[in-house]
Amino acid sequence: MSSALETLRRDFGGNIIEPGGAQYESARRSVLASGSPAYVLRPKSVGDVQAGVRFAASAGLLLSVRGGGHGFPGFGTNDGGVVIDLSKLANVEIIDKERHLVRTGGGATWGQVAAALAPHGLAISSGDTKSVGVGGLTLTGGIGWKVRKYGLALDNVVAAEVVTASGRVVHASAEENPELFWATRGGGGNFGIVTVFEFVAHPTTDVFYGKIAFPASEAASVLQGWADYLRSAPEELTSVADFANPFAGGPEAPVEIYVAFDGDDPDLAAQAIDPIRRLGTVIDDDVALKPYADTLVDGVTPPPGILFATRSAFVDKESVSEVLQILAEVGASERSPFIAVRSVSGAVSRVPHDATAYAHRQAELMFVTTTAGPEQVVEAARPALEAIWRRLTPHVNGAYANFLASATEEDVAAIYPTETYRRLAAVKRQYDPGNLFARNHNVRPQ
Ligand SMILES: Cc1cc2nc3c(=O)[nH]c(=O)nc-3n(C[C@H](O)[C@H](O)[C@H](O)COP(=O)(O)OP(=O)(O)OC[C@H]3O[C@@H](n4cnc5c(N)ncnc54)[C@H](O)[C@@H]3O)c2cc1C
Repeated sequence: MSSALETLRRDFGGNIIEPGGAQYESARRSVLASGSPAYVLRPKSVGDVQAGVRFAASAGLLLSVRGGGHGFPGFGTNDGGVVIDLSKLANVEIIDKERHLVRTGGGATWGQVAAALAPHGLAISSGDTKSVGVGGLTLTGGIGWKVRKYGLALDNVVAAEVVTASGRVVHASAEENPELFWATRGGGGNFGIVTVFEFVAHPTTDVFYGKIAFPASEAASVLQGWADYLRSAPEELTSVADFANPFAGGPEAPVEIYVAFDGDDPDLAAQAIDPIRRLGTVIDDDVALKPYADTLVDGVTPPPGILFATRSAFVDKESVSEVLQILAEVGASERSPFIAVRSVSGAVSRVPHDATAYAHRQAELMFVTTTAGPEQVVEAARPALEAIWRRLTPHVNGAYANFLASATEEDVAAIYPTETYRRLAAVKRQYDPGNLFARNHNVRPQ
């Protein structure tokens, strides 16, 4: 260990933060979890990442990788191990103006990306929050405000630079190491640390964005009408339905349909959005033209000790009606979690199912239930949550790794169907045979 540490101190040009050090209190936490790692390493270069990986491997320490730090299971920290915090690798650069090729550091956040691309009239469909990391979100999906038109964030990745478990730098693209490229788009942080992502960005104008709210009593019919309409709506329209929000009255909370229309033509936007306004009694409507970068909200860091029981699943076309009926009933009950339903069809479903390791291309919807609060509150809510999920399970499938706070074998099987898992395990054997990168929804080499 001491020679491993000496080598680290010699080779590492970034910050090494240890217990008792000035920055340790904040560095030990990721956004949603706390830990007590022995070392938090903040690399400033790819060489530093290589040194950090070699150190964790040779010292035999548990390794966490932190991008934007928003992961629900708290994999971005640990107790007694090493955290490689990529926040200083956050450069965003347009490398080919004609092809709209963008290179981002593995620790950039989506707010940094949106701000850097806005002056060039470009955007990458990512998520809804500025402080969420490019790394975590992209490596297992990325459902953003342009998902129906441009697909998942990972569908727009064209290359990645990866530091693997041996500390080697490997390039992954359709031409170079294509199996690693396949695995990196869906397989999470299982194969190494992505120090650079290359994306194809898309030209963007200002967009029509905002929420249209309906009374809770109309939830069932609004949700059914919304899902029906999205089947024929232009793909410029992406939409999310939020309800049973505990901060807005729980079962009394309005159903908020968020819309993002990718374009600045008011007539086309109205044609796309008006059918949603006609779904019920509109009690609030703040849809307005705004820069794409302004559709992303600031993230909130909850105080220490707040737990998130976040769980997700996908819904295929034939089950949409049944599932929305159940969710509307759940939302009307006192014990409801917060529920968000996202449309994920369009461009997502046109990518061949085996082109990336994201395995849920056929789904029309993805929904998330969240209960958050102090540990006792969350634990007390678990039996009711489990009962809700027992009702839903026969009608839903899979799980979206980015909205999943637990990491049981069942969870991993829900994220990766058998064929996907087998192929990922083969890639894992090649690039991380000792399972150094295990703090994730883990694909085991054996
Ligand atoms: C407020 C909030 C809003 C969200 N909104 C959306 C949304 O709109 N759409 C959506 O799809 N998801 C959304 N998510 C879910 C989000 O995609 C996941 O929480 C994701 O894991 C966050 O990534 P991160 O880099 O910030 O987190 P981290 O905790 O830093 O990373 C999670 C894990 O990803 C891996 N990882 C991260 N970066 C790298 C890297 N460069 N190389 C290798 N491995 C890496 C590591 O295993 C790490 O432990 C949201 C989450 C929150 C909390």
